[in-house]
Amino acid sequence: MQVLPPLKRDSYPQILHSWTDMYKSPDFNQLSTKVKSATVADVEHALTSDRLSLADLAALLSPAADPYLQQMATRSSEITLARFGKTTQLYAPVYLSNYCTNICAYCGFSADNHIKRKCLTLDEAEREALILHERGFQHILLVSGEAESALDVTYMEAIAKRLRNKFAAVSIEIQPMSREHYHRLFLAGITAVAVYQETYNRALYKEVHLSGKKRDYDYRLETPARAAQAGMREIGIGALLGLGDWRTEGLALGNHLQWLRKTFWSTAFTVSFPRMRPATGSFEPLVNVSERNLSQLIFALRLFDHDVGLIVSTREEARYRDGMLGLGPTRYSAGSCTAPGGYGDSDADAEQFSVGDHRSLDDVCSIIRAKGFDPVCKDWDSEFQSSQVTD
Ligand code: SF4
Repeated sequence: MQVLPPLKRDSYPQILHSWTDMYKSPDFNQLSTKVKSATVADVEHALTSDRLSLADLAALLSPAADPYLQQMATRSSEITLARFGKTTQLYAPVYLSNYCTNICAYCGFSADNHIKRKCLTLDEAEREALILHERGFQHILLVSGEAESALDVTYMEAIAKRLRNKFAAVSIEIQPMSREHYHRLFLAGITAVAVYQETYNRALYKEVHLSGKKRDYDYRLETPARAAQAGMREIGIGALLGLGDWRTEGLALGNHLQWLRKTFWSTAFTVSFPRMRPATGSFEPLVNVSERNLSQLIFALRLFDHDVGLIVSTREEARYRDGMLGLGPTRYSAGSCTAPGGYGDSDADAEQFSVGDHRSLDDVCSIIRAKGFDPVCKDWDSEFQSSQVTD
């Protein structure tokens, strides 16, 4: 097995011994019971606490908290302004490939869907990224289906090296990798990894992940820790909203986040809220998650963790995203296309899902400014990274 070279970081996190136990023990049904049994008194206690426990988070996610949504929004806004200022970070995804070896019941890229498959060459991928660069983006997220045969660590290293001096931050949302492969990508210039558990309900996880490596719940759950151990600056987690009960998923997310924070205290974390969108295939969301529900989830997590980055993508409608500015979210995607090659070729088909906000970066920036906030396209400099690692 490849030995990970040392990083010049005193804070490099050590491997823990029993960390998987942290996740395996809280059963989804037990978490669900905690959420459902919360009372109005529990909610009021959570709203007046500075440091929230998981029990407080359960209260804020509960049906009992619904009448307190306005108070939660106000508190969430105060915390967000204090911690992040009047800023909204912006990024855009670059879809590299829609090949996938997994069958996930809900996804347009699922291996059993008969769509036109495409994996961009390195030149094509660089061209796509540079289109975004010309549009003003300094932070891009490289996204792909999960097919190592189409897109492996060598490919990712090569594209990272091409892009690292052109962008302030290059993040990835691709198949889960080993710690050693993440470390190679970190050295090549990747600064952040996003990997969503989709659902923290083990039984449901098996039902919707029908075939492929993704069926391994634990390997996926352990992925954020492997990426953090490899030195990544930022780790993104999340649950796909529309599969399991959103209140319980929110509590499981908080549990996961809390453990990651305590273990990898020098790593930054983000939470995304991908709400299911129409996609190829006949899958319908298993549970309805309204905009009001989504807002409660966002506010609850902000009150629970004052420093976590909260991401709302173009899955959501422009109206909703504009209304949430300053209330909790800290980062938006903009001008997104979810088909490989879609920026250079507007006829590119086989998108992963259809987006809800079709505005350009300039249009999104204009709205952010009109609301008194600063759009931030660059919150990191690759120079910081090169000073931290031995290449
Ligand atoms: S959700 Fe991810 S792993 Fe599943 S089919 Fe879609 S791209 Fe593949």
